[in-house]
Amino acid sequence: IAEKKMSQQEILDVIKSDTLFSWNATGPASSSALVMAKGEGVYFYDQNGKKFIDFNSQAMCSNLGHTVPQEVITAVNDQLKSAAYAYPCAIVTEIKAKLSLLLADLLPGDLGHLFYTSGGAESNETAMRMARLYTGRHKILARYRSYHGATLGSISLTGDPRRWAAEPAASGVVHFMDPFPLSFKWGENEEEVTKKSLQYLREVIAYEGGKNIAAIFIEPVTGTNGILKAPRGYLEGMRQICDEHGILMVCDEVMNGFGRTGEMFGFMNSDGVVPDIVTMAKGINGAYLPLGAVACRDHVANFFQKNPIGIGSTYNSHPVTLASAYGALQYFLKNRVLDNVNKMESVLIDCLEQLKAKHPTVKGYRALGLFGIVELQKNAKGEPFVEYNGPAHPAMGALKADFNANGLYTLLRWSSFFTNPPLIINEKELREGFAIIDKALTNLDKHFEK
Ligand code: PLP
Repeated sequence: IAEKKMSQQEILDVIKSDTLFSWNATGPASSSALVMAKGEGVYFYDQNGKKFIDFNSQAMCSNLGHTVPQEVITAVNDQLKSAAYAYPCAIVTEIKAKLSLLLADLLPGDLGHLFYTSGGAESNETAMRMARLYTGRHKILARYRSYHGATLGSISLTGDPRRWAAEPAASGVVHFMDPFPLSFKWGENEEEVTKKSLQYLREVIAYEGGKNIAAIFIEPVTGTNGILKAPRGYLEGMRQICDEHGILMVCDEVMNGFGRTGEMFGFMNSDGVVPDIVTMAKGINGAYLPLGAVACRDHVANFFQKNPIGIGSTYNSHPVTLASAYGALQYFLKNRVLDNVNKMESVLIDCLEQLKAKHPTVKGYRALGLFGIVELQKNAKGEPFVEYNGPAHPAMGALKADFNANGLYTLLRWSSFFTNPPLIINEKELREGFAIIDKALTNLDKHFEK
């Protein structure tokens, strides 16, 4: 079998009978799965050679596209040949020192103290442990519209329905609402929304007891729960509240980090806010190998100079994964990927604007950097095809099938779909993807109830 090239159907059959899918029931997930045989730039190809433009960077992580930069290949190969694995508790490597210097340079303020993990969930798990040990407090606040990972701690932080299957979850996490509730508004303008949501946060802290709270976790720009950018003053206000109570501010940059929002880190969309702890993964190395990281400031790092961090794993600081990040970040800087994100932002917004003007099913969109979402509606009252965590709607299934049939891959969730291409995309490719979306939405418009 290993020598014979498998057909697309043979692969799908084995996947269905011999593997289990993450999150989704294996039966339907394996029936609708695409096969990736080869990746190139912003595209990938299935086993039959059919081409797809990747409009979600897989899981918002293949930020440098599907062609592995030579910098990554060289760094990984050199590391494999020199020191392929080192026990993280006792043995260190040059690549660990070099990557840490580079990350410390990219992170603002005194955030230059790094701990390396195997992914985003583990980074948040580590940050929870650190915050509890540092403060000696148990409770952690996180928001309902959030996703922080699938391990017990990080799924307990998560506010969206992916948490439910893990419940009863880990104790001590208290959820609160962000500035974007589903059924009402905190105010009519940004200033009012910020003021009211922070007033509400203060009240939650009063009920829970500020001195019991170790940390507040947030995605600075919410990802899978809707590409929601914090209103002006919100992150600054949260920083101040944290300082008043000795609470650590933890920014989950797993999806935002490394340019997705048009800034190196999502929290940099604020007026100089520096969190106490930052968690990262995905874009750190374009997801070529499993890697995450936690960065913390001097005061937190000083505590762990004297006290054990109480967490670790075989694959922490794996030298080959660290090398992949070192190569990926060299590529990122040399090719000015962040400048490309900012150049492409206006093209993305232009394309989204055109969709909104043309298609009655497009209720609206939100976008910054190369981070975008389109909200769909089934009628002029603005009702969604699928409510929050509601039952599937055939029109959304048909839209996904249309995207795929016409060679576009992206993530659809409830009544929305995402536009998060690799950060190296150019204008021609972006417009090519939107032409496919335009065509598919023309079909969706037939479901619009007049
Ligand atoms: N945090 C955020 C904001 C994420 O978007 C994700 C994954 O999508 C995670 C954490 C979990 O990362 P991982 O899937 O690498 O465990």
